[in-house]
Amino acid sequence: MKRIYFDHNATTPVHEEVVTAMLPYLTEEWGNPSSIHWAGRAPKKAVEEARDKVAALFNCTPAEIIFTSSGTEGDNHAIKGLAYARKDKGNHIITTKVEHPAVLNTCKQLAKEGFDVTYLGVDSGGLISVDELEKAITPKTILITIMYANNETGVISPIKEASDVAKKHGVAFHTDAVQAAGKVPIDLSVLNIDLMAISGHKLYAPKGVGALYVKRGTRLVPLIHGGHHERNRRGGTENVAGIAALGKACEIAGRDMEKEAAHLSALRTRLEKGLAEKVPHITINGHPEKRLPNTANVSFEFVEGESLLLNLDMKGIAASSGSACTSGSLEPSHVLLALGVPVENSHGSVRFSLGKGNTAEDVDFLIEVMPPIVERMRSMSPLYAGIKL
Ligand SMILES: *Cc1c(COP(=O)(O)O)cnc(C)c1O
Repeated sequence: MKRIYFDHNATTPVHEEVVTAMLPYLTEEWGNPSSIHWAGRAPKKAVEEARDKVAALFNCTPAEIIFTSSGTEGDNHAIKGLAYARKDKGNHIITTKVEHPAVLNTCKQLAKEGFDVTYLGVDSGGLISVDELEKAITPKTILITIMYANNETGVISPIKEASDVAKKHGVAFHTDAVQAAGKVPIDLSVLNIDLMAISGHKLYAPKGVGALYVKRGTRLVPLIHGGHHERNRRGGTENVAGIAALGKACEIAGRDMEKEAAHLSALRTRLEKGLAEKVPHITINGHPEKRLPNTANVSFEFVEGESLLLNLDMKGIAASSGSACTSGSLEPSHVLLALGVPVENSHGSVRFSLGKGNTAEDVDFLIEVMPPIVERMRSMSPLYAGIKL
């Protein structure tokens, strides 16, 4: 059976060139980068070269990059680290209702510890209002954390404007850029971002490595205490192979971004148009333009998303509903609810997230198998029978 992967926002395959770049640190160059003898030299060099490459993709300085174990760790470090460092200045944090659980649950924890959290809503396109953000700022606000691009809808937040507002009021600004990194250009030299988390496995590096950008002069309380690694900012012997992989993945992303974005957005248009022509009663969720080039979030009315996914899986097609973390539960997506998508439609929503390996043939196969699956499922739905009469 064909295997077609449309779930790149959940994780990506490791790029062939990335595997090649990381292998030496699992074989002959296995040393500890902190060692002053011969065994430490090549691993140390690999870590610093990777730091240069990550910094180059985002136009910041290498000293502003801390390697982490994941996007989740980066978000926790940024949010808790900043909140603890500034708690004598205030206890108010502003975020949004559409964040990834790595941000939402970190804020929830801080609320238990006495911080006060404001959750901004979004419009039907998934966008926050920058005016509303500015109005939410109080003299006690110490941190604003807004995702760069949403993992479920691909919607890109007005980060430039939001970070400018933060700067104007002297509030620190964090962005979860896990989905945006490598897919759209991010130039930290022109944005007022103080903290930014990324993750390796969302951009063709392996799982278990990530990076946190910390603007020079931003004080953070460390999350992980230990040795003098990462200039005392994050203890623990470095994941050298993973870090080398992340560096390579960032280099490739920078090199191929334009070509890749053109390829993905053409495929996405083909997918959305094809489905709209062949399947009645569907809607595309999220702002039509302010979106990542690879993500399509589609609501199929009168259909249960989870069963639709199982049917697609039987045809060899991998996609997902909601975020990987909430699927499996019958909770409707908190993101789609925030956009005002009705509960029934949010239950029938599927995210197709395209990536490097996908072809027009993959998309055409999806468009071919989808109509009979949806028709069969709808024929069993009492609600749909009512519509047809
Ligand atoms: C995947 C993801 C994360 C978590 O990253 P991990 O490396 O899997 O911990 C955080 N935020 C967003 C938007 C994501 O898509």
